[in-house]
Amino acid sequence: MRATIFEAPGKVTVVDKPVPIPGPGEIRLKTAATALCASDVRVYRGEKYAKPGVTPGHELAGVVDMIGEGVTGISEGDRVVICPMVTCGKCRYCIVGRQNRCEQRKTMGYDLDGGFAEHVLIPADIVRVGHVLPVPKDLPLDLAAITEPTACTLSSIELLGVRAGTSLAIMGAGPMGLLHVLLARAVGAGVIIVSEPVAERREIAKRWGADIVIDPTTQDAVAITKDATGGDGADAVALTIGSHAAVIPSFDLVRKQGTINLFAGFPPKQTVPFDPNFLHYNEVILTGSQNATTDQYRRTIQMMKHVAHIDEVVTNRYDVEHGPQAYESRLSMSGLKSLVQFPGVE
Ligand SMILES: [Zn+2]
Ligand SMILES: [Zn+2]
Repeated sequence: MRATIFEAPGKVTVVDKPVPIPGPGEIRLKTAATALCASDVRVYRGEKYAKPGVTPGHELAGVVDMIGEGVTGISEGDRVVICPMVTCGKCRYCIVGRQNRCEQRKTMGYDLDGGFAEHVLIPADIVRVGHVLPVPKDLPLDLAAITEPTACTLSSIELLGVRAGTSLAIMGAGPMGLLHVLLARAVGAGVIIVSEPVAERREIAKRWGADIVIDPTTQDAVAITKDATGGDGADAVALTIGSHAAVIPSFDLVRKQGTINLFAGFPPKQTVPFDPNFLHYNEVILTGSQNATTDQYRRTIQMMKHVAHIDEVVTNRYDVEHGPQAYESRLSMSGLKSLVQFPGVE
């Protein structure tokens, strides 16, 4: 089968690999579609670890085409999306349903082969903990492939307490910032403010439900946010840009007792100095979020077809032979999300 592999930072190639055969407890998918994540690009840039030789791709959907010994409740032909986290099911985080912080967590596409290949082997531990999730009949698999980033966004907005009427400021209108706009709208948020330097992305944010868009290079994001929130600042702030320089400015957008979520990952080995009295006197909650719980994946799949514009998040489509171009498209910031699609698997 044809498969994309990550060889080293800056080097992603397409090779022939043997079609995997599922062992006990495992299943195999015919891959329908796999989306490229900003974190895959961070691996490509050498900012995040992945095992050399691994097939990347943790945002994947497909059709079950072979079942290993002892697997029950899954049949050949099932349309499924994968929650790519291998979790233990036994640690304190797994027990309370916070599988994304599992002590033993491994993730497909970094430590284990992922979805940028015609077939993908689903490890027994993913099958065992229920991370093979059925896709509703009316949800196309190429849309189901972006369940993972959508679930990560749901995790962020739930951590931020975004609900009916909540004001939300989002820094960055890349695919993840825009997914914040869509989900916040879907749950009935109040004013949504987006700060983004690229005009084209500001326009998309506006069209998809942001009330106010700000060009931070020419406009005063703090003054505009305060003005839009009765002088207080936003109830919630999501930082979706992995830039150290954006962290402190995000503090100025939040109201007292509001919440800031550092949603993006950052390049390693750099720190940000801040005044601890900012948190102390304003009682601001500063948190981060990464990935999502199994429950959030399940609810995301049910929610997706009801989220306006979500089918427009993928703008660039490639076949597996052009997998490396999917990386290039992200580096050049052309369009929004990139997808590798396998024709005929639906
Ligand atoms: Zn992802
Ligand atoms: Zn665990």
